[in-house]
Amino acid sequence: MWLAIIFAGAARGQSVREQTFAKLNAFFSKDAAVKNYVRLTGDSLYLYSHAQIRDKSDSPEFALSWSDAGYLSGMIDTMTEGELKSMLRELRKRHSRTSGDSNPAQHTFHSGGKPQSEDMPLAGLRVAIDPGHIGGTYAMGNTESRCMTLQCHANGKCDTFRLIEGNLTFFTALLLKKKLELKGALVMLTRNDTALSSLDITFGEWKRRIRRAAYADSLVKAGLLSPKELRLLRLRLGDKVLFAKVFGSVDMAERAKKMNRFHPDLSVIIHYNVNERNIGWRQTTPKDFVMAFVGGCVVSKDLETEAGRLNFLRLLISPGIENSISLSSKVIHHLSADLGVPIATKEDATYLAKNCLPTTAEGVYSRDLALTRLTHGTLVYGEALYQDNDKECRLLTANDGNFEGFVYPKRIEIVAEAYYKGILEYLSTLRNK
Ligand SMILES: [Zn+2]
Repeated sequence: MWLAIIFAGAARGQSVREQTFAKLNAFFSKDAAVKNYVRLTGDSLYLYSHAQIRDKSDSPEFALSWSDAGYLSGMIDTMTEGELKSMLRELRKRHSRTSGDSNPAQHTFHSGGKPQSEDMPLAGLRVAIDPGHIGGTYAMGNTESRCMTLQCHANGKCDTFRLIEGNLTFFTALLLKKKLELKGALVMLTRNDTALSSLDITFGEWKRRIRRAAYADSLVKAGLLSPKELRLLRLRLGDKVLFAKVFGSVDMAERAKKMNRFHPDLSVIIHYNVNERNIGWRQTTPKDFVMAFVGGCVVSKDLETEAGRLNFLRLLISPGIENSISLSSKVIHHLSADLGVPIATKEDATYLAKNCLPTTAEGVYSRDLALTRLTHGTLVYGEALYQDNDKECRLLTANDGNFEGFVYPKRIEIVAEAYYKGILEYLSTLRNK
C-alpha cells in the first residue's frame, strides 16, 4: 500500500521520458563519458556496453520504448538484477506495451499489512535502516578507520574524547527503529549489534572463515566478492588493509543486498561526519554541518560491467532519486533545526564541490557512494553532524541516555527523532498529493 502511494507520488507531473532527459543532465553530468553509454530519442532509451559517440547503426545492449520504460519505472526498484535482465529481454520481444496491470512480474510485497489506524499510522510501512560502519571496541573502530581520540583545550585544561562512529550509528538506528515500530512500521536493520557486520559475524570471525576456500567461493557466487578481491586474499594483508581493500566492500555489498531483499518503502542510511580538513582527527574543530546524499553522479568506471549498466538504467528510469531528494530534504531540515547545526553548502567541503552535484533541495547532494548506487528505491543517506566539533564531541561522549540496557549519548536521540519526523512529513506530503 505504501509503495503504491510512493510511486504514485513520483509518477505525477512528468512522464518517464521527460524525467529521464532531465535526470541525465541533472545527476549524471559529473563524468561526461557516462552520457556516451546511453542514447535517448523521442521514442526510446538505448543503453550500450561501451562508451563512444553514437549513431543509429550502433547495436545497443538494451533498448526500451518510453512506454516500456514507464511500465518498468514503477517496479524496477523491487527487481533483482536477474529479474530485470529477463524483463528487458521479454520487453524487447514484445516491443511495446501500454499498461502494466496484467503483468505477471508485478511485485505486490506490500499487501497484507495491518490496516492503518490513528495509533498505528505506519502499519504496513517497511523501513530498512543501515547503521553505518561496524563499531564495537576502539580497536575495531581503528581497523575500519572510523574512530578518533580528540583533545580539546579549554579553560586551561585539556579534555580527551574517544569516539567510535559505528556505535553511534547503531544506537541511533535502534532508537529510530523503536519509534517507527511503535507506530506499526516493519523495520529491518542491516546489522544487529555493535561489532557485527552485515554478514552477522564479526570481522575476526570473517578472517577465520575466509581462509576456507569454500566460504570464499560462496561469497564470489553471491556477488559479494570480486575476483580481484579474491586474489588479494592470497596476500598477507594487515587488518586495516584487509578491511579497506576487501572486507569493507563485501560488507557494503551485503548491506545493499539485505535492504533490497527486504523490499523497503524507504531506507535510512545513518552516518556521522567529520571535518575532512581536520586530518588525523586529534584536535577538535569549530566546524559542524549537516548534509545528505542521494544517488546519481555515477562514473564511467561503474558502467564497465553489465551489472553496473543495469544499475544505471534503474537510477535513470525509477523515481528513486526524486523521492530520495524529497525524503532527505525533510530529514535535513529537522536535523538542522533540532540539533542547531547549519546545513552544508557546496563550499563547506571539498568533496561536495568535487564529487557531488547539488539537487533542488538545500543540503542534499547527488553522490556516487556504494550505498546510494546499490540501494534501490527511496533513501536518505544522512550525515547529521561533525563528531570532531568542539561541542559535539562532548555531547557524543556523555553517555547520558539509556534504552533497553544500552548506554548512549542523549544527543543521538535528537538525531533519531529528526529522522522520524522527516519520514512522517515525507509520507504525509505523498498522501496529500
Ligand atoms: Zn560514516
